Amino acid sequence: MSNKIKMCPFCGAKPEIDYFPDKHCDTYGITCSNEKCIAHSIFEVYCSTEEAIKAWNCRAKQLKGSDNE
Ligand SMILES: [Zn+2]
Repeated sequence: MSNKIKMCPFCGAKPEIDYFPDKHCDTYGITCSNEKCIAHSIFEVYCSTEEAIKAWNCRAKQLKGSDNE
């Protein structure tokens, strides 16, 4: 399953998916469920859950990979 959401790269908490219905384009955003976490305030929206999850997982990967490269 490629669209499985990863745990928060900052604190390891489970992320939450928010859904915003809109007349033109429904949007989805992912934030960390931990209110004290930096990822709780970073907010980007996407047109599908798949895209939002992909972007979230990318961010997790980037942060983890930064030590190796
Ligand atoms: Zn977090």
